[in-house]
Formats: sequence, structure tokens, C-alpha cells
Amino acid sequence: MATPPYRGRFAPTPSGPLHFGSLLAAMASYLDARANGGEWLVRIEDVDPPRIVPGAADRILHTLELYGFQWHGPVMYQSRRGVAYRAALAELSRLGLVYRCVCSRKALLENARRGVDGLVYPGVCRALNLETRQAALRFRVPAGRVIFADAIQGRVACDLATECGDFVLQRADGVYGYQLAVVVDDAEQGISHIMRGADLLTSTPRQIALQQALGLPSIRYAHLPVALDRHGDKLSKQTLATAIDDRQPLPALKMAARFLGLAPPVDLAGLDEFWHWAVAAWPSRLVRPLRGYRQPLVILDIKMVANG
Ligand code: GLU
Repeated sequence: MATPPYRGRFAPTPSGPLHFGSLLAAMASYLDARANGGEWLVRIEDVDPPRIVPGAADRILHTLELYGFQWHGPVMYQSRRGVAYRAALAELSRLGLVYRCVCSRKALLENARRGVDGLVYPGVCRALNLETRQAALRFRVPAGRVIFADAIQGRVACDLATECGDFVLQRADGVYGYQLAVVVDDAEQGISHIMRGADLLTSTPRQIALQQALGLPSIRYAHLPVALDRHGDKLSKQTLATAIDDRQPLPALKMAARFLGLAPPVDLAGLDEFWHWAVAAWPSRLVRPLRGYRQPLVILDIKMVANG
């Protein structure tokens, strides 16, 4: 049987400029795609209007260009994908996997326990068959564990019902949930491999459950160690991680390469030379632990990572 073509992607949320943490995800996914003779696509995840900073998407794309990234085909924007998300929701509803929920955040804070990523929805509205218009739509998670082999983190197992609960596919204000949007878009873009920060490891079992429910192809995952600041916090737009310098790509690229376990020669002078070297130096098949990784893996929850 022919192996499907390798298609990777980088999917930034335009809530600020590209920072070092996102450069790592961009670089690793890019190098892995190139080293495997694959394609690399870019998607702007602007599905959640309040999180979007005007101009940030263009700025991210501009930075990627200045850094020498080359992507395949047009950039996908989640803000233009409502029709596809609606169709996926309709399909899940037809399968009886969606229900309306009117629980307030306050009620949840009082009644729900914490799971691997926020509160575990206690299922209050699951059996009520509500028809309220102004309601969130939740996905009825399957019973049993979702298990997958992550190319970096190893075997990951998650019992969605106890560790996560039924999650939101569309908020009461109409905004589609990240998990739904990502799954629909990855399938539409034909993504075969996802390499991203380990902060998203807890999302993957939910995405796999949605793929399975929608009958979409499965994807190979690799979750990278997350860059932490000196206080041990994740570099993110929220913690105001500084933007990487558009005028000086090479030092940032070399630093990112070092973080990813590569050893860039000091005399690499230009961008073309850097990328040519980096693609050749990237291990074409990720082995675990990724050879040369000097940063600790970020293990989010001991229950999530069954095999360490
Ligand atoms: N949009 C997410 C972020 O910027 C990444 C989503 C993904 O890679 O699946 O953190």
C-alpha cells in the first residue's frame, strides 16, 4: 500500500507577533516536512475573535517570509471556514454526538473538578435534550481511553470522560471551538503529520476522538518540548514573550535549531545556507527521545503520559 504523502503544517493563532516558542514549532514542523520530502502548509487560527490582535496575522506571515520559510499553497484562515465547521457539527448532530448545554461558567466553577486541561464538564446537560437556542454545543465524548503513539512523548493515553469531559464544539455566542476547527481544517488540508508544542498534548486525544467520530483520516503526532522562560512559564503571547527580531533572522534561527538538538556550524552565513544545512541535519525519522534534546520534556500530567 502506498504511504500517503507527508503534509505538515504550522497553525499560529494571531494573538500577537511570532515569538521564540512559535518559531520552534514552525521550524520543527518545517524541517520534518522538508526532510521527509513533504509539503508544509500554513493556517491562521483566527477562529476566536476576542483573541485576535488586528494586523498580527499579516505580521506573522511577514516574519515567516523574512525567516525564509516557504509554504505550499494559499494560507488557510479559520475565520473563513464557518461553512465547513457548520457541516461537521451537523454531521456530529446527526450521529447523536452533540447536545445543548446552558451551564454557566460560574456553575461549572462551583461544581466541576479540574482535569488535564481545565474543568471536567460534569455532564449536567448531557441527558436533558435541551432545545434552548442560546446554548453551547458539546461533544459527547466516547467511553474508554484514547491511545496514540507520539513520536517524541511516547505512548499517550487519555480517558476523555474522566480527564476532560464533554467539550464545547460551539460556544453560546456562536464561536466555534478550537478542537472542532483544527480537526476539520487538518482534514481539509490533508495533513498527515502534526508537530507542535507539548502544551497542546492534552488537546490531541479530543482531536482524535473527533476525527474518529467524523470518519476522518488519522494523523501522526509529535509534541515538542515547550520553551520556558526563566520563571518556568511557557513563552506565549499571554506571558508577553518578546517577538523575534524581523531584522536579524539568522541568530534566532540558529538558537531555535540548537534548542531542537541541532548544532549549527558557526560559519553559516545566509538564510539559504542555514535552511539547506538544517534540512540535511534534521533526523528524517524522529526517534524518541529526540537525539540531542537538551531541554526537559514538559510532562503535563502524569496520567496523560502512560509510558513516560
Ligand atoms: N493555534 C494554536 C497555537 O497557536 C496551535 C494549534 C495547533 O498547532 O494545533 O497555539
